[in-house]
Amino acid sequence: MDAPTRLPALFVSHGSPLLAVEDSPAGRFLDGLGDALPRPRAIVVASAHYASARAAVGAHPRPATVHDFNGFPAPLYDIVYPAPGDPDLAADIAARLEDAGLGASLQPARGLDHGVWVPLRRMYTQADIPVVPLSVLPDADAATHIAIGRALTPLRDEGVLVVGSGGFVHNLGDLDWAHRDAPLPAWALAFSDWMHAAIAARDWAALVDWQQQAPNARHSHPTVEHLMPLFVALGAAGEAPEPRVLHRSHQLGSLALDAFAFD
Ligand code: ZN
Repeated sequence: MDAPTRLPALFVSHGSPLLAVEDSPAGRFLDGLGDALPRPRAIVVASAHYASARAAVGAHPRPATVHDFNGFPAPLYDIVYPAPGDPDLAADIAARLEDAGLGASLQPARGLDHGVWVPLRRMYTQADIPVVPLSVLPDADAATHIAIGRALTPLRDEGVLVVGSGGFVHNLGDLDWAHRDAPLPAWALAFSDWMHAAIAARDWAALVDWQQQAPNARHSHPTVEHLMPLFVALGAAGEAPEPRVLHRSHQLGSLALDAFAFD
């Protein structure tokens, strides 16, 4: 049997929970994404909706589907994504994070928040690949999240898909909820364009300093947890990340749903 192919690390935007079911450019992109990759043996998802003060890893063998949102249509609350967990992989990840000096805790009761199951439900409809949730640290900086990702780099050679699930532009107070197809406002476009340029230029020093250098950084991310999964994916790519833009779209005005692969 051949050795597993090295998998890219991904950053995907999980949008609103409706992305689990709606027909949209971002939804159709996710529908095709799983088949475009070598089949992983397991998936680690660093989710914006799994926040902790230091790294935490979900270790439930049968993680529950958690409906951690309010005010959406009833059918969304009936969705179950019954992928198994992988407690051994979770323990391995926690050990790697400990070895990297980052500290980590195992959380045996952790389920799958919507940052995990919304994209996976479209990428891997069979829910037959084990999933391990990984937290982000809202009080930590981009460099720390790159270090978290870096600790996971070797797993990409072992058939593990590392996914960061967040949002490329994410200001819930500045969305146009009445108009799904509203144009991307100029402030969000300026931020998005700066991020794309820094990534295309492989200017990781500028990217890590995004809060100082990117235009409208604070307005694009009033809190940072939806951007930190991008840095986990970037870190998982290793010493010399090769970026690819996988998808670029937006909804509700400023909710940018861009996605990247880092090889
Ligand atoms: Zn979210």
